[in-house]
Amino acid sequence: MVSLLPRWWVALFALYAGSGAGWWLGQAAGAPLIGAAVGSGLAVTAWVALEGLRAARLMRWLLTAADRPAPRSSGLWGELAYRTERALRSRDRQIELERQRLAQFLSGIEASPNGVLLLDADDRVHWCNWVASDHFGLNAQRDLGQAVTNLVRAPEFVAYLKSGLWDEPIRLPIGLNQHGATDSLSVLVRAYGQGQKLVLSQDISELLRNDLMRRDFVANVSHEIRTPLTVLSGFLETLDSLALSDAERRHMQALMRQQTERMQVLVADLLTLAQLEGSARPTADQWVSVNAWVAQTVADAQRLSNDQHRFHVTGVDSAALAGSEAELRSALGNLLTNAVRYTPAGGRIDVSWRVDADGAGELAVRDTGIGIAREHLPRLTERFYRVDGSRSRATGGTGLGLAIVKHVMQRHGGALDIASAPGQGSCFTLRFPAGRVRREASPALGR
Ligand code: ADP
Repeated sequence: MVSLLPRWWVALFALYAGSGAGWWLGQAAGAPLIGAAVGSGLAVTAWVALEGLRAARLMRWLLTAADRPAPRSSGLWGELAYRTERALRSRDRQIELERQRLAQFLSGIEASPNGVLLLDADDRVHWCNWVASDHFGLNAQRDLGQAVTNLVRAPEFVAYLKSGLWDEPIRLPIGLNQHGATDSLSVLVRAYGQGQKLVLSQDISELLRNDLMRRDFVANVSHEIRTPLTVLSGFLETLDSLALSDAERRHMQALMRQQTERMQVLVADLLTLAQLEGSARPTADQWVSVNAWVAQTVADAQRLSNDQHRFHVTGVDSAALAGSEAELRSALGNLLTNAVRYTPAGGRIDVSWRVDADGAGELAVRDTGIGIAREHLPRLTERFYRVDGSRSRATGGTGLGLAIVKHVMQRHGGALDIASAPGQGSCFTLRFPAGRVRREASPALGR
């Protein structure tokens, strides 16, 4: 208020000056009082007009150009302009801050792996993140303000939304995936504000698939173990209750040993799988000589074959692979064991190594065995999948061999390819990325 005082003094001065000048001029005309009155009137009018002009400038600025600097002037209007401008700028800053906060908040929700859908009290779409728009097939812009029950027509969803019973989430089928299984969402509604709803969605297809796989796996393992156990307990009962000749007893003991070995192999394969799943990927700085790897594993397979098959190894000189020797031996061991098992006596088994132009390495195990029908090929690496269950079991198979091979290859950044046809033999190829292949084996590697 202090800064306003001089302006009142100026006004008072103008009033006195106006009336003084009017008095003086009026004296000459013989009417000094009228002159003083006219003079002071003129002075007040001029002062009011000046102040009105300032007020009009301030008003124009407020109405049309408040984003530009306020008109500068002294006195009441200057003070008013300054304070209004300061209040406006502070409000603008506050709005900008709130806008940034909202943008950050929304981008945080956008980053969520779960769907977030906001509905108003009439179940109209208020906002949704891209995951929710993907889950419910919504268009985040076009569908704003639309009733969600017209857009998401799944009866379970509509009934759940209308029910008001939202303590538990519901499972919503959302179509078939590429494996032919049903994909599902878990949807949960929470009320907030004045009747608004927050709809949270989560894709639980993978979770359900894993759960199913786990249950299948446990069922398969139980089944695989139960069979030899039943056989063993049957034999033990027979040994207890029947008087057997020495030959019969020896025969029974041999069969019992066979069943025990079967269980041992199964447990060993299960442990191998568990180890592959639970340990870190093999580093790329341990080099394994391809020659030594193949030679040792082929020698084991030859023992298993009992000289019933002809083995040919080609191209394995001067190369090394980066990875885990134990895992590589397990992978190739499984392929060669299968080649021996599924190739009738007299057949031929070829093991060949080559490095292609890009530096990637390939180890192929080709046999002249019974082969595999086309429809089985995509499922061979599934745990416990067998083309012919009784044949596999009769030859000591666990149904886990190719699952182990696939795992080992994934851990080495490679892949397993299978080509086969019934009666025409099979070819299993282990492909290694160039980064894990060295063409020239160092002398230290020649084991
Ligand atoms: P298994 O222990 O039963 O051999 P695998 O996972 O090693 O289990 O193989 C899965 C199935 O693939 C086998 O049951 C068999 O039917 C088929 N298979 C694997 N290798 C060969 C092969 N070299 N020739 C023919 N069939 C094979």
